[in-house]
Amino acid sequence: MPTTAIIGGGFSGTLAAVNLARLAKTPHRVVVINSGRPFGRGTAYGTTRNEHLLNVAARNMSAFPDHPSHFFEWLRSRCDFDAVDDATLRETFIPRRIYGDYVRGLAAHYLGPADPRSNVQCEVIEDVAIDIEPRGASQTAQPDGGKGGIVTLENGEPIEAESIVLATGNQPPAGLPGANRLANDSRYCGNPWMNWHENLPADDKHIVILGTGLTAVDVIVTLRHKGWCGKVTAISRNGMLPQRHFRGIEWPHAVPDDGQSRSLKELAQLIQQDCQRLRGASQNPAIAVDKLRSRTQQLWKALTLDERKLFLKKYAADWNVIRHRIAGPIHDAITDALDCGQLTIRPATIQSLTAGEDGIEIHLVGREGQEKMIEGDLVINCTGPKSRFSDSNLPLYRNLFERGLAKPDEMDMGIAVSDDFEVLDANDQASPFMHAIGPILKGTLWESIAVPELRQQSFHVAQSILHQEPVEIPTKDTLEYCI
Ligand SMILES: Cc1cc2nc3c(=O)[nH]c(=O)nc-3n(C[C@H](O)[C@H](O)[C@H](O)COP(=O)(O)OP(=O)(O)OC[C@H]3O[C@@H](n4cnc5c(N)ncnc54)[C@H](O)[C@@H]3O)c2cc1C
Repeated sequence: MPTTAIIGGGFSGTLAAVNLARLAKTPHRVVVINSGRPFGRGTAYGTTRNEHLLNVAARNMSAFPDHPSHFFEWLRSRCDFDAVDDATLRETFIPRRIYGDYVRGLAAHYLGPADPRSNVQCEVIEDVAIDIEPRGASQTAQPDGGKGGIVTLENGEPIEAESIVLATGNQPPAGLPGANRLANDSRYCGNPWMNWHENLPADDKHIVILGTGLTAVDVIVTLRHKGWCGKVTAISRNGMLPQRHFRGIEWPHAVPDDGQSRSLKELAQLIQQDCQRLRGASQNPAIAVDKLRSRTQQLWKALTLDERKLFLKKYAADWNVIRHRIAGPIHDAITDALDCGQLTIRPATIQSLTAGEDGIEIHLVGREGQEKMIEGDLVINCTGPKSRFSDSNLPLYRNLFERGLAKPDEMDMGIAVSDDFEVLDANDQASPFMHAIGPILKGTLWESIAVPELRQQSFHVAQSILHQEPVEIPTKDTLEYCI
């Protein structure tokens, strides 16, 4: 029986396994290797807190590209939403832990031993994959003869597989200068997914959040949910908080879909002009970015490397704030925290952290170059995942790069893959047995983070592993709000 080993059991890895089970016509063994975050839930949907909401409306959160209303239909099976009418439920931002139940439920349904008709036999192993070596001498693409790899685990027996899927998600946060000396200091939390909220300081104390993105928002919302009344300062270079979702309008695309390739300069001009037109019509300029969603990957791939680098330097911060918006109730909580003076946003660059007597000292440089130190009784690192891959601390990638079986993408934001998600080796050859999906494709695709893209990838890779002709599912032009 052919074996597929999937490394990572978050949304991407779980859905790759589930799609193998849905599509396999002959017996197939699937081994999911996962550690760190709960299987089936991963980083985003492993939260147990009800106040953490999805930032995509329910109607666009189906796990299956070939069954777009699947999540909505699943929600209808829960009594929690009996009183909510269909139209409202479609537009609702559901708690992420419920979404975790959905994905975990799919795994139980498709991968569990209950169905004797299933062609897939699945095993989930709690362990860390640290290396992959090619199986046998010949790695040329023969029909399954000899191709494949062996996954080395930190603790368990090696796993031999004909196909391997890398679905490891984002890298852990990059360490901040001085943070390694705070590893045993209970006043510092380097991982925002830990249960830091179980030991909050007293209400007259000060919590400092490093970062002002979606993870920082999670922390602020939890502090308010717990009724913690102390002061909070959130620091980031640009000092920008995520914006609120809104109901959009019908609007033409800023960039005509005419097959013409355009330089970054031309694209920026077209988008900026569209934003002006939207403002002139008293509409939110974010509509210009939303309308590009289904073509963002294509536009990104058509840019030169220099243009992609320039985009990162010049436009990415603004793009991210506009693109990754938050649900209305979450935005209300943040606005309340700002209005009542509980929350202060400080635009500054973090220089270093040190353990002081009265708190963790954060050394900053402000926008005008002035140096400053502030103290936090609890400091939480929400600066987001480490982005560079070439100096990754993860043994799996260090070993894959060293063996030449994989290489960082040109932007050094993930690993290089072909258009069919085959991992590219050091000589740019597509691996005959390894695929990669999820946020590790960000440098190649830019838009490779959220469920609407990841469900496509896991479906496509499952078809590829099973040698089935990929069925392209037409994506309906997404409505221009809450995507
Ligand atoms: C807080 C947050 C909220 C989000 N909200 C939304 C939303 O509302 N809507 C939306 O569409 N998207 C959202 N996203 C985007 C989200 O990243 C994706 O939807 C999805 O969770 C990514 O899944 P993944 O499986 O690729 O990665 P992950 O969820 O990170 O899963 C990867 C798993 O692999 C494990 N792993 C890594 N390396 C190894 C190894 N070597 N060996 C074994 N195991 C390993 C990790 O520990 C983890 O368990 C959110 C993201 C975050 C962080």
